[in-house]
Amino acid sequence: MGAGFLVVLAILAVAYFAIRGRAIRFREQLQEALRRATERTATNQLPMEDMIKCPTCGTYSAPGQQRACDRVDCPYR
Ligand SMILES: [Zn+2]
Repeated sequence: MGAGFLVVLAILAVAYFAIRGRAIRFREQLQEALRRATERTATNQLPMEDMIKCPTCGTYSAPGQQRACDRVDCPYR
């Protein structure tokens, strides 16, 4: 086992850690981008998905915030 073998070993170790570090960074960036994309989609869709339509008058309102309308047969009255 000479010095050449140690040099090769050192180069391999450096290359291994460089590649692994880059892969981890890439995965973190990917997850961050994915998280941002899902957050944006969630905030865009949430208001419409949470709206509840009044079966009588057809007015949309957020859950827990249903307001009675002018109709006599409104269920939120
Ligand atoms: Zn109503």
